[in-house]
Parts: sequence; C-alpha cells; structure tokens
Amino acid sequence: MKYFGAHVSASGGVFNAPLNAKKIDAKAFAMFTKNQRQWKAKPYDEKVIEKFKTNLQEVGIKPEMVLPHDSYLINLGHPELEQREKSLNAFIDEAKRCEQLGLKLLNFHPGSHLKKLSEEESLDYIVENINKTLELTKDVCLVIENTAGQGSNLGYKFEHLSYIINKSIDKNRVGVCIDTCHLFVSGYDIRTKQEYDATWKKFDEVVGFKYLKGMHINDSLTPFASKKDRHQSLGKGEIGLDAFKWIANDKRMDDIPLVLETIDDSIWKEEIELLYSFIDQ
Ligand SMILES: [Zn+2]
Ligand SMILES: [Zn+2]
Repeated sequence: MKYFGAHVSASGGVFNAPLNAKKIDAKAFAMFTKNQRQWKAKPYDEKVIEKFKTNLQEVGIKPEMVLPHDSYLINLGHPELEQREKSLNAFIDEAKRCEQLGLKLLNFHPGSHLKKLSEEESLDYIVENINKTLELTKDVCLVIENTAGQGSNLGYKFEHLSYIINKSIDKNRVGVCIDTCHLFVSGYDIRTKQEYDATWKKFDEVVGFKYLKGMHINDSLTPFASKKDRHQSLGKGEIGLDAFKWIANDKRMDDIPLVLETIDDSIWKEEIELLYSFIDQ
C-alpha cells in the first residue's frame, strides 16, 4: 500500500506534527525533531514524548511512516575536526530523539567537502560519523538522502549512497531516501517511462531497492541536470505528472513514507489526494 504525506510543521512542539499531518489526510509525514536552524535544543521532557505518541496513535499513522529530517546545519563530512564533531554530536542527539519518540528512521543529507577535501575523503568522514552514531543508538535507521549536487554537496550519485552503505557497520540500520527533484536535477531522468525504468534499474544495481526507506515527492523548478535544488508543486515543474503516476503504481515504493516537500503547503491536501487518485484500481 502507498503512504503519501508531507513534511509538516512541528512548531509549538513535536506533538503538533501528527495533528498537522491529519489535517491534510496524510498517511505518512516528515518533520524536524527540533528547531532545524539551531545547534542545540533542550531535551524532550516525558510529557512531550507521551503527547507525541498519543497524538500519533490517535491520528492512525504508524511510527514506521514518520521520516524525521535532521538539521540543515549538520555536515558529517566537514573538512574541519571541530565542525565535524559538532555535527556528530548534534546528529547523535537527533537519532536519540527519534528513538525517544518511538520512531524508526532519521533522514539526513550526507554532507559537503566544501572544496577542501576530495569526495572520497569527505565520504569517509561521513561513514566514520554514521558508524559512531550506529554504535551509540539502538534501533533507528539512518536514511541517506540523494542530493541535487549543488555546491560541494555529496550524495548526487547513487555511487555515493552505496559507498556509505557498504562501509557502514550495520547494514540493517542504514537506508536511502530518494528525492525526485534531486534525482532529476542531479542527472537521472524520469520524464518518460523508458527513462524512469532505466533510472530505477540503475538504482537497483548500484544501491538496491531493499535500502529504499522513503522518498521525497517533489517536482523541480529547474531543468534536468541543472544541479540546482528548487522544488516545485507536482505537475508545475520540469518533471511533470507522469513520473508521479508511475510512482503511485510502482510496487517497489509500497510501505515506505512518500513525503511531499513541494513549495505550496496550502495545496498539500490536494496533492496527496491527486497522488492517491493516480493509483490504478
Ligand atoms: Zn528532500
Ligand atoms: Zn531539495
């Protein structure tokens, strides 16, 4: 079955996220576990955790269908030790927050070499930090997102994702999230059925569908292979609606959170409805 949703607001407290998801008839959602633009946040108190779990249960969304997103400040592949450690500590904190909330996934962007390291050196730091995080947590799965390849961001090639997976100490607790906008602008076309099939075949060969733990469902404002990360509402960008119709009917994307990060949150409810309407009966 398909679990469509959106990246909803957690402002006022994480326990508001499930309620915001319910408002748009989402069956899955993404959220930030804390203010994503600050390094530190106070620990959750017991009441917050309980309220989150109660609300999640009340709206009928499974913990497995929540795909929390880490802070944009974190760079696990940072060239400088001090910054890398700061990132690692913040990342471990986020992973532990997910576990406190009873959630199973944590979505993150791999990192950036900032033109001071080779891609491989930076990827090795990312692996090192992921492994440290796996050691210090119990059951959260760390979900690497493919990126647009803007600036010096890593993760714009399937090979980057598989490099990290292959060197991780617990392959049961690493996975990937494929963002359709990032996929498209990083040079993997999905506009025709032939290209859609070829892209996912490549994905399966290099990474493997068993690692696909979630997706971000976005159209792209910028053209194919532009390496510019600008999301657009479904059908209003360069990708067009066909790719989303194929996704809605692609069994390989069953039973994972499929989350909108499109730019107009006032139409998320309609976009979710549209995605469900694509499923062939
Ligand atoms: Zn994304
Ligand atoms: Zn993006």
